[in-house]
Amino acid sequence: MCAYIYDLNALAGHVRSVVAALPARCRMFYAMKANSAEPLLQTLAPIVAGFEVASAGELAKARAAAPDAPVIMGGPAKTERAIAAALAAGVRRLHVESVLELHRVAAVATRLDRTAEVLLRVNLTGPFPEATLAMAGRPTQFGIQEPTLPAALQLARETSRVRVVGFHLHSVSNNLSARAHLAMLAHYRDKVLAWEERFGLRCEVLNLGGGIGIDYTDPTRRFDWAGFSTGLGRLVRDTFPRHWQEIDFECGRYLVADCGQYLTEVLDIKRNHGVTYLLVRGGTHHFRLPVSWQHSHPFTVLPVERWGLEAPRPEAHGDPVTVVGELCTPKDVLAGNVPVQRVRAGDVLAFQQAGAYGWEISHHDFLSQPHPEQVFFPVSQG
Ligand SMILES: *Cc1c(COP(=O)(O)O)cnc(C)c1O
Repeated sequence: MCAYIYDLNALAGHVRSVVAALPARCRMFYAMKANSAEPLLQTLAPIVAGFEVASAGELAKARAAAPDAPVIMGGPAKTERAIAAALAAGVRRLHVESVLELHRVAAVATRLDRTAEVLLRVNLTGPFPEATLAMAGRPTQFGIQEPTLPAALQLARETSRVRVVGFHLHSVSNNLSARAHLAMLAHYRDKVLAWEERFGLRCEVLNLGGGIGIDYTDPTRRFDWAGFSTGLGRLVRDTFPRHWQEIDFECGRYLVADCGQYLTEVLDIKRNHGVTYLLVRGGTHHFRLPVSWQHSHPFTVLPVERWGLEAPRPEAHGDPVTVVGELCTPKDVLAGNVPVQRVRAGDVLAFQQAGAYGWEISHHDFLSQPHPEQVFFPVSQG
């Protein structure tokens, strides 16, 4: 037994409440790279403002799942082909990450006889709230650094085929503090106000990125979305100028992490050199998130009574266990040194909060083992 199981009703309920709490002018896009499975996209399309894609492949999936859903496109290294696909498909806005990319967008727009609406993605100078990944405020490949911004804006002025309507500021990932996130948005506001003043421009659209977190070490601890939305409402109403007409968010993890579980059967249990190992049918080629983030992923044991073998059934109880997969590498670890009450070979482990960056980021064909099933509830009637 090895499967990803998704609860689409729970997904719809969660995202509806997230969107409903957003204040005026704010819109929630779904960052598709977290999980681009078609049933998720179809569930989300009527609820979110649209999809954020980062490749022509994701764009094609968005169009196939929900042909009319608005799409915005990011990505740090876009080819001319991807830009052309975006413009031809009517992508609403491109998030441009360098001066050369702005040239590239202008060239493609000229060739296709269109005008491209763009946001400039800026890699800000910090400080930022604590979060597990930082995309800005330190050297990374993302966005345009602040000292280069004048050159990008100058080029935009000279290029009639490109209309810069605002800025894109995605700087953190997996931030768990609503207060810290609001502080970061206030920092963004101050930056954009200063640029408007300094460069004599009027921003119409701001994209404040994603990065709302999930606490994988303690699933009962939640990002305070209600408190965040209230604070955001105050921030936007009282301190964002009226001409900032549209405030976009593009969240991935926070929207879809909870709706998916990864279930995998315990094939064997053994002790080696003092450590109790649970060896499961799957592993990090299906679910790379825990190694990628170097955490022990939370799981529950689903007892299975059936045991068909004429052999003693190994079990562990009370001891800390390390959960490893079927790959021939010591790095294939899903959870390390976790106490469990009782687990037997043949039981199933259910890894929670596996809906975001689970299957999507994994190296599926390493060792050529069979893929897990993908099961979506409720099962579509179509
Ligand atoms: C990955 C990504 C997101 C989504 O991030 P989450 O942490 O999943 O919310 C949003 N915007 C950009 C540009 C990204 O690269």
